[in-house]
Amino acid sequence: MKISDQQIEQIREATNIVDLVGEHVRLRKRGRNWTGLCPFHSEKTPSFSVLEDRGIFKCFGCGKGGDVFSFVMQMEGLTFPEAAERLAKRANIELQSVSSEDDDRIKSEREAIFEALRAAAAFYYRLLRAPEGARAMDYLKKRGLEDEVMRKFGLGYSPESSGLLTAALTKQGFSNGILEAAGILAHGDNGDSYERFRGRVIFPVFGATGRIVGFGGRIMPGAPEKLAKYINSPDTQVYHKSQILYGLFQAKDAIRRKGFAVLVEGYADVLAVFQGGVENVVAASGTSLTIDQLGLLKRYTTDVVLL
Ligand code: ZN
Repeated sequence: MKISDQQIEQIREATNIVDLVGEHVRLRKRGRNWTGLCPFHSEKTPSFSVLEDRGIFKCFGCGKGGDVFSFVMQMEGLTFPEAAERLAKRANIELQSVSSEDDDRIKSEREAIFEALRAAAAFYYRLLRAPEGARAMDYLKKRGLEDEVMRKFGLGYSPESSGLLTAALTKQGFSNGILEAAGILAHGDNGDSYERFRGRVIFPVFGATGRIVGFGGRIMPGAPEKLAKYINSPDTQVYHKSQILYGLFQAKDAIRRKGFAVLVEGYADVLAVFQGGVENVVAASGTSLTIDQLGLLKRYTTDVVLL
């Protein structure tokens, strides 16, 4: 079976290497990384490390190393497709075979979407700290948010008028098609496209590996009442609301360390609780809690406190 690169990335995204290796090796946290006794050679002192941020493992004793796929291949003597199937099953991902031409097209579009989201997040982030964002910054500070937390979660501000962001991203080479696929642009009734987030505080939503997959936006005080208080990115190739937990990327180390997660309602709740020193906090923002979200959380803990 030919597995698409898109699905391979999906499997990689869905597989936490510390959890995977942890099923075979007793790991202890040392600094940013995890260490344990190498499962591939016999040793008394650990020379085997897992670099969670990079999704890889490495043994300084026997030299074995690789990613989640090579770990399963070497551990269980499987071929790459077999290892991918095994990991897909573990992550509840249904595999579909595709032609390699489609595969390349899908892969490059996904990459372009990720790039566009990152560029948009950088734009929003800068704007919050520019004169245009002063009112938003003032509002966030009045709500008691510290700059360190705002930075950690990459908060930003979207301009009130549509066009500025599009112009900036067009200059960077992004087509309107990609901006629409990324959910940054929306379609009006007359067919014109416009920027989805305007005059809102922006909460970037990170996937479990730290890539931005979408945004949440909150209106500012004094905005017209007909506007929704919060809006989210629509579902895209890289963003599926029902499969995302806001704050998970920032919380996962603390969840693992403390052995449980705190589940709150929305973006602002996560920030407030995190700033209060409870860093193992996530939100099912913009949706009621789903089975997929619980499955995601289960990779880190089975103990959840609803707040
Ligand atoms: Zn080794």
